[in-house]
Amino acid sequence: MPVSLPPLKPPRRLLFGPGPTMVEPRVYSAMSTPIVGHLDAYFFQVVEDIRNLLKSVFGTANDFSMAISGTGSAGMETAVANFAEPGAKFAVFANGYFCDRISEMGRRYGAQVVRFEKAWGEWFADEEAAEFVRREKPQLVAFVQAETSTGVFQPGKAIAQAAHEVGALVIADTVTSLGAMPVQVDQTGIDIAYSCTQKGLSCPPGLAPMTLSPLALERLRARSGAPRTWYLDLKLLDEYYDGAHRYHHTAPISSFYALREALLAIAEEGVENRWARHYRAHTAFVAGMEALGLAMHVAEGHRIWNLNTPRVPDGIDDLKVRKRLLAEYDMEVLGGFGPLAGKVFRVGIMGPLATEENVLALLDAFEACLRAEGFQPKGSGRAAAEAVYAAAG
Ligand SMILES: *Cc1c(COP(=O)(O)O)cnc(C)c1O
Repeated sequence: MPVSLPPLKPPRRLLFGPGPTMVEPRVYSAMSTPIVGHLDAYFFQVVEDIRNLLKSVFGTANDFSMAISGTGSAGMETAVANFAEPGAKFAVFANGYFCDRISEMGRRYGAQVVRFEKAWGEWFADEEAAEFVRREKPQLVAFVQAETSTGVFQPGKAIAQAAHEVGALVIADTVTSLGAMPVQVDQTGIDIAYSCTQKGLSCPPGLAPMTLSPLALERLRARSGAPRTWYLDLKLLDEYYDGAHRYHHTAPISSFYALREALLAIAEEGVENRWARHYRAHTAFVAGMEALGLAMHVAEGHRIWNLNTPRVPDGIDDLKVRKRLLAEYDMEVLGGFGPLAGKVFRVGIMGPLATEENVLALLDAFEACLRAEGFQPKGSGRAAAEAVYAAAG
């Protein structure tokens, strides 16, 4: 039977959700260039370029910086599988969904997981975080720098300091923060950081950038047995991407091209300029939401810049608002889940969308959809956002 399907013609969405986010045209172009073999010298040059470009977004001098095949969760599993040895004590700072995922992986790899739990939307203060680590004396500590389920940014310096005092390594989930706000791996004292391509880096999903500190590398090399995972075994991956270039798996070549191009675009803009652009978009959007009369779920000073969580006003059905945004404006915004289901919107403003024009368009559309569902705005979101941009010059 002959098969006939219409050609692919995906709708042109404005991806204002937590990810995947908008991709620059130059990145799509890079993906359509011809592939080479996974052992070709050209491919290893691309790997080398990615290693060097990753250092500036991660804020690290670590030579061990590479991309794992798979999405952000593959990065998470690589971190856990290689460093949480069976029976080891693994301390997790748990204040959202992704901390729960790390905990679950830790248990599956046989670690003894201990958790410091907080409500979704709260963060860990330096003192209490350090105290927890000193009391538990784990071999491994994990925290989520940008908890996408809540909108909280967790600084890690006090956590890392206490962890190193007790001889523990520090894992940080930088899946949402990387490329959009300062991650500062070295300054914070993070030993193992992983991320994804489809959030702050404005690239399609498919790879998990990762970096290891010299201390993490030393522990990896000293590890007695092999990890339970073969595909995500960092020693084997290191022999493929670096060292002997021994075949391990067929790297997704086009995804590597895309990541190189996305990182190059960031380097050309200047990573600090890019962070500043995201910060401005964030403050303008927050000012706009508050002017309309919506409260932010996370306290000021603890918010992720590129993922905003305004609370759903009383009596408003967030799903109806979001459906309308998608149907009438082609704008994708996601809702909360777990304890925050129906309570917050999750609005990602990153990459090409982090501009005044796009923030204002989003605020106008948001206001119209809220009004259509019966919400009476207090004031003008657009005017408040414009004032932020005007003040920034
Ligand atoms: C999205 C996300 C992940 C998982 O990444 P996938 O690419 O969906 O596998 C992990 N941690 C955080 C904080 C995230 O936002």
